[in-house]
Amino acid sequence: MNKNEELEKIKYDVLNLTSSPLYQDRVKNKYFPVIGQGNHDAEIMFIGEAPGKNEAQQGRPFCGSAGKILDELLDSVGIKREKVYITNIVKDRPPQNRDPLPEEIEAYGPFLDRQIEIIQPKIIVTLGRYSMYYIMQKMGLEKEIQPIGKMHGNVFENGKFGNLIIKIIPLYHPAATIYNQSLKMVLLEDFKKINNIYKILSFSVLLFHYLVAL
Ligand code: URA
Repeated sequence: MNKNEELEKIKYDVLNLTSSPLYQDRVKNKYFPVIGQGNHDAEIMFIGEAPGKNEAQQGRPFCGSAGKILDELLDSVGIKREKVYITNIVKDRPPQNRDPLPEEIEAYGPFLDRQIEIIQPKIIVTLGRYSMYYIMQKMGLEKEIQPIGKMHGNVFENGKFGNLIIKIIPLYHPAATIYNQSLKMVLLEDFKKINNIYKILSFSVLLFHYLVAL
């Protein structure tokens, strides 16, 4: 199977995940599961929490008010949404936009793991506490976990996901700016850091290809 087929298979598996605690609610509300969107060869993967109502109605991540903020943040540093991959840990909408429950994270976590294995990003940006906890633990970095106020914008270099070495950058969730405007400046600054790391990484990849071609 190629990458696209493997990602398509994830969609199929989630669609048929009748054992999920959120399956009945999805069917009752005629919602779609939200698998992920973007470049299947992305160097950066953004991981949010769970779809909201807009996302579950359209089957696309971050297409509601939090998505508008994420788009602004990407625009602020000139990163095109099509170049990155955007997903969530939980693939179905928790009712009333409540926080995801541990059993929901447990049910959908393996699909996120498969997405990381297939896409093999060089940088994972976690949006909010839930994806930060999940990814830091998954990468053997649980000892480095602190409140998000301390961790945001820092780069964790030593995380290993199987054989993959991936830099982890935890950020506040874009929706946090709706309740606390001052976090917008914090996110804007953190996006500058992401962009600098991304530029260095893209340059190293270019240089590598150039040297190999010599
Ligand atoms: N919040 C998230 O965490 N993910 C989405 O897709 C939308 C809002």
